[in-house]
Amino acid sequence: MDVTAIIDSLNDAQRQAVSAPSRSMLVLAGAGSGKTRVLVHRIAWLIQVEHISPHNILAVTFTNKAAKEMRGRVEELLNISARAMWIGTFHGLAHRFLRQHSEEAKLPSTFQVIDSDDQLRLIKRLMKAMNIDDTRWPPKQMVWFINAQKDEGIRASHIQETGDLYQQKKLEIYRAYEDLCKRSGLIDFAELLLRAHETLRDNTELLAFYRDRFQHVHVDEFQDTNTIQYAWLRLLTEGKDNLFVVGDDDQSIYGWRGAKIENMFNFQKQYPNHLLVRLEQNYRSTGNILKASNALIACNEGRMGKALHTDDGDGDLISLYSAFNEQDEAYFVVERIRKWVAEGNSRADAAILYRSNAQSRLFEEKLMAMGMPYRVYGGLRFFDRMEIKNALAYLHLSAHKGNDAAFERIINTPTRGIGTKTIDNIRHLAREQQMTLWQAMISLLKAGHFTPRAENALKGFVLIINSLTEQSEGAELYQQVKNAIEKSNLIEFYKKEKGDKGEARVENLEELVNAARQFDYDASNEENQSELDIFLAHAALESGDAQGDAFDDCVQLMTLHSAKGLEFPLVFMVGLEEGLFPSQQSVDDFARLEEERRLCYVGMTRAMKYLYMTYAESRRLYGKENYPRPSRFLKEIPAEQLQEIRLRANVSKPVTPVKSSKSTLGTSGRYQLGQRVKHEKFGEGVVLQVDGDGAQERVQVNFADAGMKWLMLSYAKLELL
Ligand code: ATP
Ligand code: MG
Repeated sequence: MDVTAIIDSLNDAQRQAVSAPSRSMLVLAGAGSGKTRVLVHRIAWLIQVEHISPHNILAVTFTNKAAKEMRGRVEELLNISARAMWIGTFHGLAHRFLRQHSEEAKLPSTFQVIDSDDQLRLIKRLMKAMNIDDTRWPPKQMVWFINAQKDEGIRASHIQETGDLYQQKKLEIYRAYEDLCKRSGLIDFAELLLRAHETLRDNTELLAFYRDRFQHVHVDEFQDTNTIQYAWLRLLTEGKDNLFVVGDDDQSIYGWRGAKIENMFNFQKQYPNHLLVRLEQNYRSTGNILKASNALIACNEGRMGKALHTDDGDGDLISLYSAFNEQDEAYFVVERIRKWVAEGNSRADAAILYRSNAQSRLFEEKLMAMGMPYRVYGGLRFFDRMEIKNALAYLHLSAHKGNDAAFERIINTPTRGIGTKTIDNIRHLAREQQMTLWQAMISLLKAGHFTPRAENALKGFVLIINSLTEQSEGAELYQQVKNAIEKSNLIEFYKKEKGDKGEARVENLEELVNAARQFDYDASNEENQSELDIFLAHAALESGDAQGDAFDDCVQLMTLHSAKGLEFPLVFMVGLEEGLFPSQQSVDDFARLEEERRLCYVGMTRAMKYLYMTYAESRRLYGKENYPRPSRFLKEIPAEQLQEIRLRANVSKPVTPVKSSKSTLGTSGRYQLGQRVKHEKFGEGVVLQVDGDGAQERVQVNFADAGMKWLMLSYAKLELL
């Protein structure tokens, strides 16, 4: 492959970035302008033209899917294998680094990664053991607190005691949690980053080695790096002027999780020799989509400022659909997708984007009822499902008896008659003697501490785990997984669960064996880990987004956050309501509101050709009926770019005059344009439209206080005034 192939398909600014002499660079540009494309082509250029070995290249992004795609695109451009290249997510690379240098990192070589769910369980247990009131110190907030400290590089030992009781307890919990993790060889996500940073910082030789090795360091979505991630990049590149970052301040959406937009300014100061490249042409979206997104994001203050234009035509207007309720919304979206597919388009080209994971369920139900394949990204990932985590815990424990998180999870799952008291005894001893739970259990068993019944049950458990350990010797990975599922009796256990749920769980367990069979064991594994350990780490780190590839043509469902960096010809943004999007917590907080707006910008700019935005006039949320107002973001989009969708042709049908002013509601013909009405909840308003017949009849009313609403006449209590 020659040089021209790498730069031919680029515009001038992109070409400049890709072929610039080696030095630091910031590509600052709006959505869809080719930042990721530039990054990929830059790597190809370095390998092809500058003859840099893939071994000397590091590239980091935020999702596994993006990392995989990046590697694939480089390989495709150059027709080589890029295996030797360090490319992955921050967490994935930190994990890889720690595996290779567990000694320097002061970790047991068998350390295990725990996900956020395990982390919460551990904290809960710890707090119980410490007799801490979990209403005053809610475990979730403690997890949040600990992770936030770690993201800033702060250890418990760094925190000054202030004498404030509340603060003091939090610190105690943090400290005890650090001890527990150390004792049982566990490491959470935030710890991966922090530990990787500390290890590099504190080992001069190691640092020198990696500085020398990584001659070129690349970062996609740089605007979302947090303090510790940036510090890690700094360590690797300090004084070398070889950091290549691409980003868009308008797409910074992880402030709530510690991302620091300041990193973009810091970069400009700390790499003074950097080349700044701006890309101004958008290649992704139609003119209308682009104009609407630009207008929306212009409502934010303090932006770095970017211009974005397209050579594409205006395309269709953005469609706005106001649904009666959340059911209607889901039905509308799924119907449109059905039509889209019937017209010969591919399902995978359609995406439904929502603010919170809980919103996916209704769309899933409707898609399922229609027999339309779909895939939910993020959300409850395959490896997060309860049954899968239970099966994996058997594998974890059989390989590493010190994994307390796994122990806790399965000691009585499936139920085997081990009561809370027995488990509490084990926990107590473990805490007192600084042992792992497994060690404590064995030692109590030896001491004949338990009742015969509990002893029997525990011995049965020990037998299962030990036999799994033995059988794993020399067995194939999938065989080990199969053994664990069989020996644990999980299948029998879930078969007893009523309804589809149990059935689905059994299917998932079977799918786990398949996943193990198909597991792509990376032969370049430099860490000499067992295949099982690699698989288990993969399960903890995999954010589910790689699974999409296994099933070909599915409608794509994901949160707005996980849609970052992706693009789809047809996009539905749903639930555009105050309190949902922007979220309730953000409406009174200026900074958070701006972040929500950026999230809206991210969502809109995923769309290539068609964009639908929907909201419901009433929504059942957390078991309560709500009547939200349409999202303020809709008002920030110029009316010229919007078209309202009405499903029925008779938008405002003429209605016969009111005959009896005393009648309340129900039969058609009573309402006319301009009729004044009163509603129990919304107060007084004026009828603007009437639509549908009989039980389906509804009116649109503009209420003085509550704004515009569509109301079903058969439900709404309307009084004529
Ligand atoms: P985001 O901010 O959403 O991450 P981005 O800036 O990374 O977007 P890319 O995903 O790299 O943008 O590119 C957007 C789309 O435009 C892709 O489909 C890409 O292939 C296409 N594209 C980028 N540059 C060009 C070009 N010079 N010629 C043709 N297509 C291009
Ligand atoms: Mg990108």
